[in-house]
Amino acid sequence: MSAGNVNAAETARFDRLAARWWDRDGESRPLHDLNPVRLNYIAERVVLKGARVLDVGCGGGILSEALARAGAAVVAIDLAPRVLEVARLHLHESGVRVDYREMAVEALAAEIPGMFDAVTCMEMLEHVPDPGSVIGACAALLKPGGRLFVSTLNRTPLAFAAAIVGAEYGLRLLPRGTHHYAQFIRPAELALALRNAGLELEDLSGIAYNPLTRYAAKVGNTRVNYLACARKPA
Ligand code: SAH
Repeated sequence: MSAGNVNAAETARFDRLAARWWDRDGESRPLHDLNPVRLNYIAERVVLKGARVLDVGCGGGILSEALARAGAAVVAIDLAPRVLEVARLHLHESGVRVDYREMAVEALAAEIPGMFDAVTCMEMLEHVPDPGSVIGACAALLKPGGRLFVSTLNRTPLAFAAAIVGAEYGLRLLPRGTHHYAQFIRPAELALALRNAGLELEDLSGIAYNPLTRYAAKVGNTRVNYLACARKPA
């Protein structure tokens, strides 16, 4: 599974968005708008200054750069080559350091297990054929006591309405075909995958987002987009 856990149509779709990744008003707009909320969520649970952090499915590096700016030593991986190229170019503009690598998380886990204080995997699991394999590899990459942070879309009618009907068809915020409802992940399914990977779930929180006002906040209800934090036992 490790070599083939990627949907090439998915990474190609992201590659087509590469040039506009850092345009706050482009297709990555929700990622830009959500970024302070997720950075804050991570910073509340991990001391980022001096931490070794891995960002899995990093895209153009919106979260990776924010983690680096907060003082973490960041390795970031993705399998979309053009997106990674934009991520690397953007470092010249921002002046931060991130070690971008084009490789699968399963391959990195085989190479350097137990290396990271924190692993982040945001808005990525719903694009992968076998999310459980990604979570297993993320767990292997953590040091004992390290934390995994995941965000994804819940498989609810409301998430379908917001992320697919609203964002792709209504507001045309995202290209059609960006999300597939069947690949959305219920919190209970994520919790099971985390447990199977030997991690202890510490928190599940929802993210509220209004694309019109660009308001984003951490909330209690996980019906659309949500964050999870899980810890590898020490
Ligand atoms: N995590 C970033 C980007 C989310 S977009 C953020 O939240 O800001 C989803 C990203 O997952 C894309 O960059 C896409 O290329 C990547 N991706 C999809 N399948 C992947 C896989 N199997 N391995 C690594 N990255 C993958």
